[in-house]
Amino acid sequence: MPLRPLALFAAFMLAATAQGAGSPHYQLRYEAGTATMQVTLCLAQAVADVHLEAGDDAARHLDGLARDSGAPLQRTDRAWNAHDWRAGECLHYHVPLGRIADDRSRHDQTRRGDDLVIDPSSWLLQVGDADAADLRVELPPGFSISVPWQRLPSSDGASHYRIPRTPDDWMARIAIGRFREQDIALAGGTLHVAIFKGADAAQRERLIAWLRRISRDALSAYGRLPLTDVQVLVVPIGPQPDVTQREAVVFGQSTRGQGNALTLFVDPTQNDDAFDRDWVAVHELSHLLHPYLGDRGAWLSEGLATYYQNVLRARAGLLTPEQAWAQLDDGFARGRRDTRPDLDLEQASLQMGERHDFQRVYWSGTAYWLQVDAELRRASANRMSVDEALRRFDACCLPSYRRWAPDEFVAKLDALAGSAVFTQRFREFRARHDFPELTALYAALGLGREGETLRVDDQAPAANVRRAVMQGPALAKRPSSERVP
Ligand SMILES: [Zn+2]
Repeated sequence: MPLRPLALFAAFMLAATAQGAGSPHYQLRYEAGTATMQVTLCLAQAVADVHLEAGDDAARHLDGLARDSGAPLQRTDRAWNAHDWRAGECLHYHVPLGRIADDRSRHDQTRRGDDLVIDPSSWLLQVGDADAADLRVELPPGFSISVPWQRLPSSDGASHYRIPRTPDDWMARIAIGRFREQDIALAGGTLHVAIFKGADAAQRERLIAWLRRISRDALSAYGRLPLTDVQVLVVPIGPQPDVTQREAVVFGQSTRGQGNALTLFVDPTQNDDAFDRDWVAVHELSHLLHPYLGDRGAWLSEGLATYYQNVLRARAGLLTPEQAWAQLDDGFARGRRDTRPDLDLEQASLQMGERHDFQRVYWSGTAYWLQVDAELRRASANRMSVDEALRRFDACCLPSYRRWAPDEFVAKLDALAGSAVFTQRFREFRARHDFPELTALYAALGLGREGETLRVDDQAPAANVRRAVMQGPALAKRPSSERVP
């Protein structure tokens, strides 16, 4: 998430248990008039006991549950058990999605006219220990669906997907409505963009053009998107009265439930300059470059996205290198001011939700990535870098549908980069009670102050490293395999 929390979203349980059920197959059919989803869930194999489970509120929403065999379902708390499942048997039920979206107690779900945003854990029953499921969706003419799932080829006019199994408390969003999903095809993968109701035709066109520009910027880390399918949900919310400076992107969030997704809450009335000044979208796109690291690793993940939100915008020409260094320097000053020494960085990271040490956690993490990047580049004449280590991580390990322990992630980066610096600095930074000391790094890079102004010195021993950080790899300039439809 970016450092601008307008709302805190709850995480939702999506648990299931069952053994040997094979890969489930779902068929969904949406009825727009009643905003109801008809769900059929089939398993090819016979199973003695199938356990089905969903989020806490699902029991209130599932209507007409019936098995082909006519055998009953045993309900236990949030779960259902189906005894003696026959090979090829299906379960049928329907769900009033409109009513779920209208539930005022769930701030992550919403309805505007025919457009709904809902969490699948409220209604999509998951089968036991199945690693993944296949799904086919039929929609009425003029309707679209936006999902974090992987696209499968389709020959029958319906949409086909594979749902990766992710940990039960990872949040996901699904949108259904009269929007038109637009694809932004990039090297490595596709952004599937849905702009929710609330922007006019001209505003939607500008939003898509902007997303094309900035997704190219985010690629300049190593020239490709690390995931084949990324859901991008753009929710126009208009100007925010409590934000003093009007922002184009009011809030952003990256989620990983059932696949990777970004949600951007935007003010579509802002002009192109305001969107070009935005950093939230590049920050959220940068989160695609690392696996989920949990609350303990939030300083690493938020630090990486915060480092790249400045570095990648400089490489794209949205900031000059001097402006990017000044942004980093300002952020470090805010992080230093926000650091309370009673906790070490890892503890502050774990308790960020309660203590709101956002500045300290985000900017200490940013300092970590700058420190490591500079050391790798100095030791290798710019041949090794954070960009290159992450490119190798993508090749071996992304997408990843599990949580990585922070020390496991940095050890993997060291193994891939042939270095020790990720782990060394990780151990040092996570135990710090103060803000990371950057004096020596600043001197090496040629960063210094004249009064309030940050100045750069090209005679500094690692001035070439400072320049290389903001230039990036040569491939960043022209992602040659990009296809813009
Ligand atoms: Zn973030």
